[in-house]
Formats: sequence, structure tokens, C-alpha cells
Amino acid sequence: HALTEARKALDAPLFAGLPGDINVSFEFFPPKSDAMMDQLWDAVTTLAPLSPAFVSVTYGAGGTTRDRTHGTVARIINEARLPAAAHLTCVDASKAEVNAVAEAYWEAGVRHIVALRGDMGQPGAPFVPHPQGYQNAADLVAGLKAIAPFEISVAAYPESHPDSPSVAADIDNLKRKLDAGATRAISQFFFEPETFFRYRDALAAAGIDAPVLPGILPVSNFAQTRKFAAACGAAIPAWMEGLFDGLDTHPPARQLVAATIAAEFCRKLYAGGVRDFHFYTLNRAELSYAICHLLGVRPGPVAAPVEKAA
Ligand code: FAD
Repeated sequence: HALTEARKALDAPLFAGLPGDINVSFEFFPPKSDAMMDQLWDAVTTLAPLSPAFVSVTYGAGGTTRDRTHGTVARIINEARLPAAAHLTCVDASKAEVNAVAEAYWEAGVRHIVALRGDMGQPGAPFVPHPQGYQNAADLVAGLKAIAPFEISVAAYPESHPDSPSVAADIDNLKRKLDAGATRAISQFFFEPETFFRYRDALAAAGIDAPVLPGILPVSNFAQTRKFAAACGAAIPAWMEGLFDGLDTHPPARQLVAATIAAEFCRKLYAGGVRDFHFYTLNRAELSYAICHLLGVRPGPVAAPVEKAA
């Protein structure tokens, strides 16, 4: 099945999408400064007319961005009027602390949480649950469901999570998160469409029918991507390394190459039947916007922005 999809992908035209048959979602991170808030807001308002199914805002390691995540999600809901999900992790926090954050989200009108385990502050350190905390993401999902009827998304790993003893154990873990009440998974980024097609087949074989959205990382800063990928176990194909080679000192050319690679990647995913795309925007709109455009996603009528309260 995966190979048939891959073969079909080779023949797909460049402008693959049909208007209205694609759902997109966008991920942002909470800004650390006023200048970064301006950049984020620029990205949110540029992408909002594409009518995303939802947008989401990440949660810093160990709760370091708790207030900023909350503030950013609330602003997106109230001012941009987009359905926004807040990420929440359970690393380094007791259940009571995590529950208090979730209750505050609910009170602020947040109805969708991306529930994650999180990672230890020390890069690569093995995960140790807080003594009074949730043990893992599945445990967190069950805890959140007990607080309020949140819509819950969880993480999925087409190339397996580095902590997983096997592909099958990783898929079992995803199943536990869905059984605990999550209704959707969002994947870690990956760079070969075939990786996702194989994963989709493995999930179907395991009886998982919840939507799993491919996480698309439009790469423009290759050095940074190499670092991200090493930390989360995503493979960087040699061809990609080669395509970015020599472009460090040519940012505009690099941006064009980045757009070409990402568009080709999404075109193949679309040809393989993918209709939901989740973009890791890194708070920059242009690459995601361009890829959406190539996929046939066009601006629709958008809710008038609300004046920011003084
Ligand atoms: P879990 O699903 O609990 O477990 C991770 C892996 O550990 C499993 O896939 C499995 O392989 C293994 N495992 C766990 N328990 C068992 C078991 N009992 N038996 C066998 N294997 C087991 N991090 C942040 O800090 N903030 C964010 O906002 C954030 N957003 C993210 C969004 C997405 C879409 C993704 C894909 C990741 C995000 N992360 C974020 C990173 C995430 O926190 C890390 O990948 C973390 O290491 C694992 O989190 P998880 O929720 O997948 O954990």
C-alpha cells in the first residue's frame, strides 16, 4: 500500500489541491519579548484568512512558558477569533499543578489541549516523572478528561520516539493515549513522505483509526533543523543535506530552496491521500502560507479582528 501511494505521488501535478478539500493547522510558540510578540502576531494574522481548523501554542520545558502560553492562546482566541489549542506537559510538575493550569485554560475558554509528557531540562536525560505527577502523556490525558470535556490531541512519532523500545511499543503507547480520551494525534516532523505512508499503514494494521496529522516543518534554517532532528530522532535525508549545502550565506536563495523542498514534500503527501496538514510555523508565516497556496488553500472570509483590550 505504501509503495502504491509513493508511486502515485511521483505522477502528481505541482498544483495538487482542490479548493476546500484540505484542512490546515498551524503551531506557534509563545514569544519571549515584545518584538517576538509582534512577529508572532504578524504570522497569526497572515495565516488566519486560510481558516485553519485550529492553531496551537507550545508549552516550554518544565512549564517555563506557562503564563506566556496561556496569554498567547487567550489572545489568539479573543482577538484573532481562531480556535486555539494550548499545549500542556506534565514534566517536573505535580498533578495538582498541572490540573490548576488545565482548569485555568478551561476558565479562559480554551477547549482543546495538546497533551504531552515533555522532556527533562537536561538534553537527552531519561524521563523521570515528578513524584506526585502524571507518569506519561496517556496518564495526563486521563487526568485532563477528569477535569473537563476537553478536546485532546497527542503526539505521534512516524520514526518512533527515541525512548521507545520498538515501533510496536510506540504504536501501543499512542493507542493508550487515544484510549484515554485523545481524539487526534499530531506527528513529529519527518522529511520523507514514504515514512508517513508506512506509519499510516502500521497504525491502520494496529486498529488505530483516529486522525494522525503529519507535522510539517518547513525548513529554512538548516543548521537549527539538524539540531532539532538529532534531539527527537527524525532522520535528515542525505539529499536534503546536499540541497542546503553552500546556502548558509545566501538567505534569499535558501528560502526559495526551502519552499521548493517543502512544496514537493506536501505535494507527495497530498498525492498519497493526506488531506490534513499541521505546520510547525516557528512563528513565521511565509513558508507555510506559500505551501498552503500551492496546495490550493486560499483565503476565505475571516472574522474581523477584535481591538486589543487596553
Ligand atoms: P509519551 O507519549 O508519554 O511517551 C513518549 C514515548 O515514550 C512513547 O512514544 C513511547 O515510545 C515511550 N513510552 C512511554 N511510556 C511507555 C511505556 N509504558 N511502554 C513503552 N514505551 C513507552 N514538548 C514540550 O515541552 N512542549 C510542547 O509544547 C511540545 N509540543 C509537541 C507537539 C508535538 C506535535 C510533538 C510531536 C511533540 C511535542 N513536544 C513538546 C515534545 C514532547 O514533549 C517529547 O517528544 C516527549 O519526549 C514525549 O512526549 P509524549 O507526549 O509523546 O510522551
